[in-house]
Amino acid sequence: MAWKPSDDLSHTVALEVLLHGPLSRSDLARRLALAPATLTRISSELIDAGLFVEVPELAEKRTGRPSIPLDVIPGTHHFLGVKLSGDTLMAAVTDLRADILRYEEEPLASTSPVAVAAQIAALEARLRVDEPPAAIGIGLGGVVTDGRKVASAPFLHWQEVPLADLVEAACDAPVFVANDLTAFTESQHWFGVGRGHENFAVLTLGIGVGYGCVANGRLLANEDSGVGLVGHWPLDPFGPLCVKGHRGCAEGLLAIQSIERDVSTALNRPVGFEEAVELAEAGEPAAREILDASGRGLGRLVAAVANLTAPDMVVVGGEGVRLAEVAAASMRDGIRADRDPRASEVVVELVSGGNDSWCRGAAVIAIQGYVLDRTGSLHGSQRNPREIAEHR
Ligand SMILES: [Zn+2]
Repeated sequence: MAWKPSDDLSHTVALEVLLHGPLSRSDLARRLALAPATLTRISSELIDAGLFVEVPELAEKRTGRPSIPLDVIPGTHHFLGVKLSGDTLMAAVTDLRADILRYEEEPLASTSPVAVAAQIAALEARLRVDEPPAAIGIGLGGVVTDGRKVASAPFLHWQEVPLADLVEAACDAPVFVANDLTAFTESQHWFGVGRGHENFAVLTLGIGVGYGCVANGRLLANEDSGVGLVGHWPLDPFGPLCVKGHRGCAEGLLAIQSIERDVSTALNRPVGFEEAVELAEAGEPAAREILDASGRGLGRLVAAVANLTAPDMVVVGGEGVRLAEVAAASMRDGIRADRDPRASEVVVELVSGGNDSWCRGAAVIAIQGYVLDRTGSLHGSQRNPREIAEHR
């Protein structure tokens, strides 16, 4: 079943219910400034088309009249969200609201683009629920053009790879490619803590430090999204060096491998990130000091983001998100150091840093592509076979 309401107005109604449902007909009419009769007609059409369902009755308190809210049926459509790191393929099957139904990850057998496309196809076939997904989203660290081509992805050593073409040639579904941070930010925007917020920012902590921003209800993105422009933001003139030689930049202070390196050096043995967090929690002095310095740096970055972009909140995620928990007090100190006391308190929301959260982000790129009908003429006949052949 395709997400093809009969006209633009039906599409608007369908999208409103997808993002904010369940909603009663009167709520919907008010939110979209539609005449009740128009809305009744459109909702009947969408129910008949199998896109909407009436959900169990809620008493509408104000009037006492019963109201039967409308909702989408999330399980009618499945999507595949894929995250590629330099050595691992992660994939999740989700429903229409990006709730994960199945998840798997496996090592990348090869980083050759054609081999990666084939491995994605094999994993898709294994994970699929009954039939191919309505769309596939792929997120990766790098610069993506037109939602189809990977201009550069340093972890995979890729340049100008027509990834959507390659995966569409191997799978029976339209494919949408995005920078992983863009995808993660969109997933918070549509179905995460950013739902219903016009302005919020995202910071992710992991091998790098990522930043995303939604302003006036739209993701800020351009051809430089994916370059990682905030990853080397200066935070502490006396902090540790990053690989590029900056002293106390975001990566030097906050990246997982920087924290591992500093705690390992201090304790004179190899210490992984999780253990470093546990040692700090247990009060081991060297680990505590290093994580507090990182927490303070994180606070200064949060303050910079809040001061420059005036978000309702700063969402912190990524596999290194536990830093913000274990060093919460230092983070608050860092925020206070760089924020005028007259300014409102910065709301910091921590979200899951699991690998599946990146796949969920990629699935949201697929869902957006599908429900906003971004496939256009790109899917199917317009694929360029020569470009695919060049990458075999
Ligand atoms: Zn740096």
